[in-house]
Amino acid sequence: MTRQLFVTTALPYANAAFHLGHIMEYIQADIWVRHQRMMGNSVSFVCADDAHGAPIMIAAEKANLTPQEFVAQIAAGRKQYLDGFHISFDNWHSTDGQENHDLSQDIYRKLNAAGFITSKVIEQFYDPVKNMFLADRYIKGECPKCHAKDQYGDSCEVCSAVYSPTELINPYSVLTGAVPVMKSSEHFFFRLSDPKCVEFLRAWAIDGNRLQPEVANKAREWLDGESGLGDWDISRDAPYFGIEIPGQPGKYFYVWLDAPVGYLASLKNYFAKTGRDYDAFMADRNTEQVHFIGKDITYFHTLFWPAMLKFAGYKTPDRVYAHGFVTVSGEKMSKSRGTGISPLKYLDIGMNPEWLRYYLAAKLNARVEDIDFSAEDFTARINADLIGKYVNIASRAAGFISKKFNGQVTTAWASSSDSFLSGLRAIAPEIQAYYEGREFSKALRAIMDQADMINAYVDANKPWVLAKDSANDAALQEVCSRLIEAFRLLTLYLKPVLPEVAAQVERWLNIAALQWADVNSVLPDGHAINPYQHLLTRVEPAIFDALFDAPVPDEEKKPGAVEELAATISIDDFSKIDLRIARIVNCETVDGSDKLLRLTLDIGEGKNRNVFSGIKSAYQPEQLIGKFTVMVANLAPRKMKFGLSEGMVLAASGTDEKTNPGLYILEPWPGALPGMRVR
Ligand SMILES: [Zn+2]
Repeated sequence: MTRQLFVTTALPYANAAFHLGHIMEYIQADIWVRHQRMMGNSVSFVCADDAHGAPIMIAAEKANLTPQEFVAQIAAGRKQYLDGFHISFDNWHSTDGQENHDLSQDIYRKLNAAGFITSKVIEQFYDPVKNMFLADRYIKGECPKCHAKDQYGDSCEVCSAVYSPTELINPYSVLTGAVPVMKSSEHFFFRLSDPKCVEFLRAWAIDGNRLQPEVANKAREWLDGESGLGDWDISRDAPYFGIEIPGQPGKYFYVWLDAPVGYLASLKNYFAKTGRDYDAFMADRNTEQVHFIGKDITYFHTLFWPAMLKFAGYKTPDRVYAHGFVTVSGEKMSKSRGTGISPLKYLDIGMNPEWLRYYLAAKLNARVEDIDFSAEDFTARINADLIGKYVNIASRAAGFISKKFNGQVTTAWASSSDSFLSGLRAIAPEIQAYYEGREFSKALRAIMDQADMINAYVDANKPWVLAKDSANDAALQEVCSRLIEAFRLLTLYLKPVLPEVAAQVERWLNIAALQWADVNSVLPDGHAINPYQHLLTRVEPAIFDALFDAPVPDEEKKPGAVEELAATISIDDFSKIDLRIARIVNCETVDGSDKLLRLTLDIGEGKNRNVFSGIKSAYQPEQLIGKFTVMVANLAPRKMKFGLSEGMVLAASGTDEKTNPGLYILEPWPGALPGMRVR
């Protein structure tokens, strides 16, 4: 019986290009989907850009584009990644598509008619310059607990206190710098606290195999928590880039309401393009709806999403599969630390996309675990397993069949009792179950165990020795034919992970696209294969130098060129130094000094500071006027021959003028303002 599957990955937010985490999720889902297709199941695999919300509206404004234009630019960049890593989505759409407007509004109307929508007037910060309500992330101010400046509206990064934006001291709008005012507005809520909702979710989340055990446990905690489920605020006020709430002019759905509806919208869009009946498909009890997501969005997918579908009378998801994050060499990815990996760069420098697919598959399992990318591990798995064990089998057998037997294989020997190949066939259900259960690492381990066994057969039968005497031709043809048959089966097992390699093997073996059922077939006696062409190259470790963002230029890493590090200090020692962003109001030469410049600095104190700095060799005064730099603001004033110096500006220099000449004054990134503390 074939299955009817509707599979999605999480919708990426359309304000940036894909990172490695996206690609990992797509590869995970793609392997699962390709395996289902090989089983003969019907799969609709779709995704879309998550296009709405304030961050996109504001980013578009900064780029001087309409939100639609901004999102279209991001969307245009998606294909190169998806094609590049062989991700086989059937459709890619946008949550700003008409289907999503229609579906989101329909879901809302049905929830409203069923009594699951309520409204409340709430008080919120409002930017009187921008004329918009401010989400917590757009408000900053002084922490009410530790008095650190410039903390976000919901929590303090210095002392970790959590508070509401109204508790901030001297709050300001991040968008305009204006002092926000309190303003009331009617908001719409989905009544998640309704006992019917709670009862439904308890059954949906905890019962059945819909969720992984650790995700189901988390859902149980949320459902049974002391405060229970609160109603969910699903509305935002204009200006907002989103979908208008029916019958409520100026009110829009919060982006998290319409984003998951985008799964349905993309499917509907796909069915319209291909002439299929969307309504019939979704009404069919055999349809299985499967979502692949990251662990950070399980709350939305295991509470809001099933509940809103259920009480709007829609089909609810059958499975939600959460995965962990990708770390690189044990750390969160970071450009500045040189641990960032750009998927596009990976492709641009000629790294094989199937190396990454194989490597990630070798690390993925059904649990919600983070995956670590390590260059050494990557190289070992590709070179030792994929090339050394798998590809090696083909290259050891192919030449003899081509040169000595006209490319023809013999299968006169083949019988169901042949232990060499029957063992390899017998693991098919086990491999299939591993793919079904997303235990890809176990699948690859089982496949590589078989490859070890086949390589042992090569070493025991030594085709290169048999080839020395034509009296052994029959034996040579049989040994090599068995190896090619074994390689065909290994390729079939690896095909969900290595679709391009499998296609190359299919061309080489002169066979139709491998399906799972081909486990039980055998190449016919006398079947001619094509000349062998190299399938995959090894990983040269030097390629990682090009892949990883360089944290520090190489010249500066040379021993001897860099000054020794000073003794370790505590954070308390460091915090004694008060560094501030300073604007250089004026700069002039100093009569009688060939080293010093006189700087007039503004650090937002309402008066200027006079600082002498020994940077005359590097800068002309007029180069510096109007620039921003960093100064030590609490250094004791120093009486100098030319006057009082009230601080010090920061500049970089080497110890040795010969190998490391030059002096470089520090300049903050645009956006830093005079008086901001550097910490
Ligand atoms: Zn604080």
